[in-house]
Amino acid sequence: MPSVKVNSVNVKSVNVKSVKVKRIAVCMTILGTVACARGQSADSTTPAPAAGSVAPPAAAESSDRKYLLERIDDAAVVQVYADGFRELPLKEKVLIWHLYQAAMAGRDIYYDQKHAHNLEMRDVLEAIVTSRAPDVDAPTMAEIWRYTKLFWINSGPYNNLTARKFVLKCTRDAFAATARAAETAGAKFPTRNGETLDALLARLAPMFFDPDVDPTVTSKSPPPGKDILTASANNLYSGVRMDDLKSYRERYPLNSRLVKQDGKLVEEPYRIGGRYPRQLSAIINHLDRAIPYATEPMAKALRALVRFYQTGETKDREAYDIAWVQDKMSPVDTINGFVEVYLDARGIKGAWEALVFYVNREKTSGIRKLAENAQWFEDQMPWDPKYRKEGVSGITANAIDIVIETGDSGPVTPIGINLPNDQAIRERYGSKSVSLSNVNEAYDKSTPPAFRSEFSWTPEEAARAAKWNAFAGELTTNMHEVIGHASGKVEERLHGNPQAVLKEHFSALEEARADLVALYFLPHPKLAELGLLSRTDQDDIARAEYEGYVRNAILQLRRVRTGAQIEEDHMRNRQMIVRWLMANTKAIDVRMRDGKTYYVMTDPVAFREGVGRLLAEVQRIKAEGDYPAARHLFETYGIHFNPNLRDEVIARVEKLHLPSYTGFVMPRLEAVTDASGEIKDVAISYPQDLTKQMLEYSAATRDLRQ
Ligand SMILES: [Zn+2]
Repeated sequence: MPSVKVNSVNVKSVNVKSVKVKRIAVCMTILGTVACARGQSADSTTPAPAAGSVAPPAAAESSDRKYLLERIDDAAVVQVYADGFRELPLKEKVLIWHLYQAAMAGRDIYYDQKHAHNLEMRDVLEAIVTSRAPDVDAPTMAEIWRYTKLFWINSGPYNNLTARKFVLKCTRDAFAATARAAETAGAKFPTRNGETLDALLARLAPMFFDPDVDPTVTSKSPPPGKDILTASANNLYSGVRMDDLKSYRERYPLNSRLVKQDGKLVEEPYRIGGRYPRQLSAIINHLDRAIPYATEPMAKALRALVRFYQTGETKDREAYDIAWVQDKMSPVDTINGFVEVYLDARGIKGAWEALVFYVNREKTSGIRKLAENAQWFEDQMPWDPKYRKEGVSGITANAIDIVIETGDSGPVTPIGINLPNDQAIRERYGSKSVSLSNVNEAYDKSTPPAFRSEFSWTPEEAARAAKWNAFAGELTTNMHEVIGHASGKVEERLHGNPQAVLKEHFSALEEARADLVALYFLPHPKLAELGLLSRTDQDDIARAEYEGYVRNAILQLRRVRTGAQIEEDHMRNRQMIVRWLMANTKAIDVRMRDGKTYYVMTDPVAFREGVGRLLAEVQRIKAEGDYPAARHLFETYGIHFNPNLRDEVIARVEKLHLPSYTGFVMPRLEAVTDASGEIKDVAISYPQDLTKQMLEYSAATRDLRQ
């Protein structure tokens, strides 16, 4: 349940069982979606999680501005906007300003954790691309630019989705000639004492050019006979094998690098007086300045974080986690630390990351309204009244807008986060969930229109999708999380543990239940009454959502490139729902045109009626722990598909040249000071330029590396 990356977007799901997944792709979304598993290529579709406001988001400001900035290979570069920032009180802006600088200050820690040569490689690339050298070979320069941008997006030479290394495609000689020209024109390279530029380039050449040297940043299932630590190229370990750790107990499991020196293990803790002292001091300095502007609960958490960075001790990290999770009401918040453990093949060491964000009040109020009315929805559930819960309270999450994400969270960002990861703290103190509203908005706005029109039967359907799918996707995701997963009860004899009997079908069934709750209530007048949408538009919104949900059943097949079976639970649930409705209602037609297949939703009333019937059955299966029925449902409708249809879908999608993941350009802040140096305002702007932002970030921390 932690956070989720979509396309590598991350979202988290609010389902407190699967604690492993910190990054989850948003649970519900129109065209495909994946959820709840990091690294899944959740598609460049509209992963819209939290929401529920009457107007489509930011309509006025967002109509003409640029979202999609450029494409590099299969990556998209997209600008994210933080519209609410300007309206924040000065105190909150100043708080964010200091936290923003703390977020930048630690960025190089993450680069270093990913690979021992990562920062040097970045320096070399940045020296070349910023030089004014005349007469360089244009094709070589173009290739260096391509590589450098991918390097920035992925925070190093490893693809964010596959963990595999990508390399420069020019020759070593051409690269060296370009570097020499840059040096002649005055560029500074990170040569070590006395080293020539050529020696530096020769030293780094295997990393830049050889795909077989350090091929994988994290290798959890290495080739037979290889060790997961030595097969992983990251810098969390040096010369250490799993065998070495059998009888070794780390003092700083989450925040240290392990090195084998002269046959002995040495632990290098990340803390003041340990590894990364300058970056950590800089972070502490900015956090100290932030504290006077924070609410008291937040200030308490920030002080605990400072203490943890100073000592590196686990008990101080726990104190920080507790203080952070207990601060549930502050309008501004930050995540700053060694958090997710995906970079480590052992799953122990935390990768550094920072996020700074503020609560999107309008969207959060929609979520709260659903949560406050959870009992009303429970009482209307279309299932046997004996499975209705009493005293149900919805699950609450904050919709937030991020101002900056660095390290493990940027430029490729999660779309939802649920922390802390420490299970003992979660059980005792709960957790905080956020969905990244402005990231979702940017994903949606940067989705190519062809993606929707290709699979829509009519232009009207495509137009409805363009107009409503992001809004409807956000609202249904909230309903899925807040009133879906929270609803229903199971028979006593299951002891609250239907997983035990439903086994491998439990998760898909539970996701189906949550999806069905959202689909069932979307057209209900209660939503308009709660102000979650406008009654006038509601029929259109529900129709657009139903159409998108149905289209997704074929679109999602593109993500299963081999075989004829769906494995991922959210995909199974969505396949099952649509195919069950096709078999049991008259709501969906399968049509052909020009050799292309379309799933067409023709009757929203029949669709909803079918959803109600299926929901009653799904709840019964869960409540009774009816394993044979669950298996029958998924074996018949959810798992197997026609591979010819998948091949057709892939061919259609590939023609559209869709990105497989996205890097985001963050907003930029600047403090406006008066003559005495006091901050009078903090200005926000949008660089719309990946290069500019990456160079600015690198420049901001260069001094810390001396
Ligand atoms: Zn879910």
